[in-house]
Formats: sequence, structure tokens, C-alpha cells
Amino acid sequence: MDFLPENETPKKKKGFNSYWLFAILIIGLLATQFLSLNFQTKPTSEDEFFGRFLPNNDVAKIAIVNKEAVEVYIKAESLKTKKEFSDIKQTKLGTPNKGPHYSFEIVSIETFKQRFDEEQKKYTDRKSIPYTIEYRKGILDIVGWLLPILLLVGVWMFLMRRATGGMGGGGGQIFNIGKSKANLYDKDTKVNVTFDDVAGLDEAKEEVKEVVDFLKNPKKYTALGAKIPKGVLLVGPPGTGKTLLAKAMAGEAQVPFFSISGSDFVEMFVGVGASRVRDLFKQAREKAPCIIFIDEIDAVGRARGKNMMQSNDERESTLNQLLVEMDGFSGDKGIIMLAATNRPDVLDSALLRPGRFDRQISIDKPDQKGREQIFRVHLKKLTQIGPDVSPEKLASLTPGFAGAEIANVCNEAALIAARKEKTQVEISDFNDAIDRSIGGLEKKNKIISPQEKEIIAYHEAGHAVCGWYLEHAHPLLKVTIIPRGIAALGYAQYLPKEQYLYRTEQLMDEICMTLGGRAAEEITFNKISTGAQNDLQRITQLSYAMVTVYGMNEKVGNVSFYDPQNENVFTKPYSDDTAKVIDEEVRKLIELAYKRTLQLLTEKREELDKIAKALLDKEILFKSDLEDIIGKRAFDEEAPAVAIEID
Ligand code: ADP
Ligand code: ZN
Repeated sequence: MDFLPENETPKKKKGFNSYWLFAILIIGLLATQFLSLNFQTKPTSEDEFFGRFLPNNDVAKIAIVNKEAVEVYIKAESLKTKKEFSDIKQTKLGTPNKGPHYSFEIVSIETFKQRFDEEQKKYTDRKSIPYTIEYRKGILDIVGWLLPILLLVGVWMFLMRRATGGMGGGGGQIFNIGKSKANLYDKDTKVNVTFDDVAGLDEAKEEVKEVVDFLKNPKKYTALGAKIPKGVLLVGPPGTGKTLLAKAMAGEAQVPFFSISGSDFVEMFVGVGASRVRDLFKQAREKAPCIIFIDEIDAVGRARGKNMMQSNDERESTLNQLLVEMDGFSGDKGIIMLAATNRPDVLDSALLRPGRFDRQISIDKPDQKGREQIFRVHLKKLTQIGPDVSPEKLASLTPGFAGAEIANVCNEAALIAARKEKTQVEISDFNDAIDRSIGGLEKKNKIISPQEKEIIAYHEAGHAVCGWYLEHAHPLLKVTIIPRGIAALGYAQYLPKEQYLYRTEQLMDEICMTLGGRAAEEITFNKISTGAQNDLQRITQLSYAMVTVYGMNEKVGNVSFYDPQNENVFTKPYSDDTAKVIDEEVRKLIELAYKRTLQLLTEKREELDKIAKALLDKEILFKSDLEDIIGKRAFDEEAPAVAIEID
């Protein structure tokens, strides 16, 4: 959704690769090992030292190392002249071996010193041999303390890579993890969306205009002491232009626009979400007046502590921080919060309290007129359009589409036209794009036997006939037996009337129409198939709703067991006896509807046959085709809003 460039500079400092550290360490180890080989002392023993080197006067000096070994330095003279030392005269590299030349282990420094002194007394003519006592750290000791440090550094680097890797969070620094990931559009990356780019949504635009006016001219409002809303919640299904509207507000008011998704706050690290919120508001305060837009706010704003089984401390602390920050600024500072969600019902009620998101604007899927306007906006982007293309026509072909889908259809149609090497985008390309958008690609190569095809044709014809002759059924748009997607072998598309209240007869007609597929199969083939599974599922839901939610059943009475907060209940809010009655009544209802459907289709058998045959022939029938075959529909039809499909 955020297709504008991010504000962070994309150039990433090339981080120091931790693998190099380990490579250097290993090379270093090998090198010291190799070097020390050159000075390696030859092993000898205490007895040989006192029995041979000392009597022969070959010893220049000794070093007692770490109280456990003695290193012997042979006199340079002896090295030069005596044959027995010829193999240690030089190092492997050819330089004179300065020693130590021999070494041996001792048990205790005291006993050795004692013996050393005593043995020397035998040679009164010589100077006593100098000795040193040394304490040395071996390579292993160094590695012993270096390695853990290196390991720590390595792990740290790894974590920091994980934390910021690929998110463009700036230079791979662990310190950035608590920074907000909001995209900022300000003076340099200006929002150039205006209200003109937002088609339809007239009421919503009207509502937010006041906010825009405030952002442009806050003094006018504050002078009169008017309270401006801090938070506006945009409620509506995805793709309906919520982000677009928020962006247009920033564009109209010419203020910076922070855009972030609720899910961006939630990370695996504890406390990160809260600190991101803090950082976001810190940035926003610096840029005020400005707009902060949080998409999918339900990702952080879900009601707290409802679910005992899996409490989410991290999300809750993020939400708490958000509430704290929202309370922290007063509206006249010029920070306006906008948030979008499709599920206002799951939001924590604290978010919706006065002073927070206390204003809600609902943004619904567009109706015919709205779609027309949206098409107009997006058709402008296509440079070559055929004369047969009009926004009105396209809008009537796309009931139920949201703005995002319309934008997609326009782009897709252009792609299809280009693929066919056309010089302009024609209505057929739009038709293909719409079909693709509706049901996935046409499965041209899906193999269906002729018998199956006949069954499908009668099934769909059954739906169509029922819809045609039942007064309250939705008007048909088209019926087809071209398989689409994986599940549907064919489908009938209807245009439901725009209405919010349904009467019992209407729901009954709808059930009958949905049963029309199976009933047609039974009448023509005296057999039923699995093709009606989807239909049956729909009517089961609908009839249960009639009985238990809408209070449309006499026996069960005027009760409604609907609880939106508690959809997956383990315990039903009614007794077992009531449950039994409900089940019985639902069965009766469906049975009644099925009988009625069978009766209707038996009466209209001729029409059923005609439509089925036409379907087998043409595979797709539009409303006008049906009118040609069986005459005009007898009932009034109103403008459609959203299409429904029945398999
Ligand atoms: P939402 O935030 O509601 O999920 P968006 O605002 O991201 O939807 O819409 C996605 C795209 O769909 C937009 O960028 C725009 O191209 C198109 N669109 C959606 N609604 C409209 C509209 N009312 N007018 C024009 N274009 C729209
Ligand atoms: Zn069906």
C-alpha cells in the first residue's frame, strides 16, 4: 500500500562481516603455531640435564617456567663446536637458534632449585649459571579468554543483522530496532494525492474536510476554543481507499504524513512495539502539524486481556503506549491520528473513548455510481482506450468490486491488450480482466466429461430459473458453466438489491433459489450430485440464522442468540430442548423450501430445458440472453450494489 519511497536513505553501510572475525582468529592461531614451531625446544630430562649438559659446561642459562618446566639455553660456543647440538644450531628458517634449546618438566620448583644449587657446587671453577623464574601465558590461555569475547561479538552482530536486516532500517544497527518504521512523506517526498484522486466516498470526504481545514489553519479553531478530533477511525473492507483518503488529507493540508501498519509495531522482542510508538510520536511532534496514519490498527488495538489462554503482553504494552501517547498531546498541537480497520468490533474500547479515536467514518464498497467514478479516475491512466469502453458499462459489470480491484482491473486490461498486440484497450480486454479477477483464471483445460457438463448445465439452469420466477430473488447478472478456480464448476451471478432489511419471504425465496441447482438435478436425472455442497452450506447457515438470530420462527419465537463477541461458543446460550426445537424447525424450513423449489421447477420444466441447452451450447448466458429465451422477468429491478455468486 505504501508505494512511495521510504524516507530513510537506502544506502546501507556494509557491515563488518562476523565470519571474517573467525577467519582471522583461525589464521592467527595457525600462524602462531607455525612460528612457535621454529623455536620449539627439544625435549630432554632432568637426569640428562644434570648428567650431561651441566657437567659438560654447555649451559648458558636456564628459565624456570610456570613452576613446572625448565628451559635450557645452550652456550653459543657449544652450539658452534659440538656435534651433538648440530641439529638445533639453527632454526628451520636458517637463522641461528637463540634458544631456549631444551626443556624438561619438573615436579616441584623447590626440589629442582635445591638439586641445581648442589650440583653447581661441584664445579667451583665456574661461574654459577644464571636462572630466571618466569610465568608465561600460553597461546591456549590467550585463546581461552579471547574466544568467548569473539563469540559474544559474533552473536551480537548476528542479532543486529536479524533485527534490521532487509527492512531498510538504516545501516544495520541494533540501536534502530526501537525506532518506528513509519514511512514519512514530508517536504522532500511530498504526498501528491488530493481529494480528486479519491473517487466516490463523498460523505467521507465531507467529514474529513473539517480536519484538513484545521490542519491548514489551526488558529481559526483554537481561537474559538473549538475541540478538534485527535483521532479518526476509518472503517471499511480492504481496498476501499482508506489509505488513499488519509494520504489525500495530508496532500490537501500540505502537512507531513506518517504511514505505518499496526503489524509493524509487533516484533518478537519485548518492548520494541512500545518504543516504536514512542519514537513515532517523538518524530511526529517534531514535524507537527502532521498526520499519522496507522493501517490495520486491529493488529495492536485488539481488546486486552479477553483471552486468558494466550495473553499477549507485548501487544498490550504497545497498545498501552499508544494510549499514553494519544493522551499526551492535545489536539491543538496539530497532530491528527488516522487509523484504518475492517474490524472495529475487536478493538479495545479504550481506543474508542473520547479524546482518542472518537470519530468513526465508515467507508463501504462502492455502489454503481461510486464504481463509475473510480473507473473514471483509473481509466485516465490508460492512454489508449477503445470507443466501446465507458465507465458506466464497466461499473455495471463489476458489482462488489472495491477500488483496489477496479484499479487492478484497469491495469490488467491494459496488460491483456498489450499481450494481444493491440493498439488500444477494448471492452473485451476489460471483460477478460474482470473475469480473471472474479474467479481466477478460466480453467480452459480442465477436463469435464459430457455427462458432467450436462449435470452442471442443469444445475446452473435450475438456479437461473428459480431466480427468474421467484419474486424476491436477486436479479440475475449472468450464468455460466465455464469452470473457474478449483472449486466452482459453474456459477450464477446475481445482483442483490440494495437493502438492509429482509422479510421472511425474501429469505425464503433466496433459499429456494439456492436449492434450485439440486432440485433441477433431481427432476431431470432423478439423481443428485455432490455439486450442491456449497449451496447446501449456504442455506443451512441462512436458515439457522432465520431461526436463531432473526427470530423468524414461530416455535422458537422472537429470540436472538447472536453474540458477536463470542462466535466460537462451547456452551450454547439455550437449553438442550431448545436446541432440539431449533434443529427440527431448520429441517422443516429447508424441506418446505425444497418442496416449493421442486414444484416450481416441475412447472417450469420447459424453460429449465431451454436454458440448460442454451448453456451447453454457449457456456455463458447474460440477462439479455435469458430474456430472449424465456421472456422478460415479471418483477421490478433496482440498481445493484454487490454481486453474489451461487455455484
Ligand atoms: P485500503 O487502505 O482501504 O485497504 P487503499 O487506499 O490502499 O485501500 O486502496 C488501494 C488502491 O485502490 C489505491 O491506491 C487506489 O489505486 C485504489 N482505490 C481504492 N479506492 C479508491 C477510490 N475511492 N478512488 C480511487 N482509487 C481507489
Ligand atoms: Zn448450485
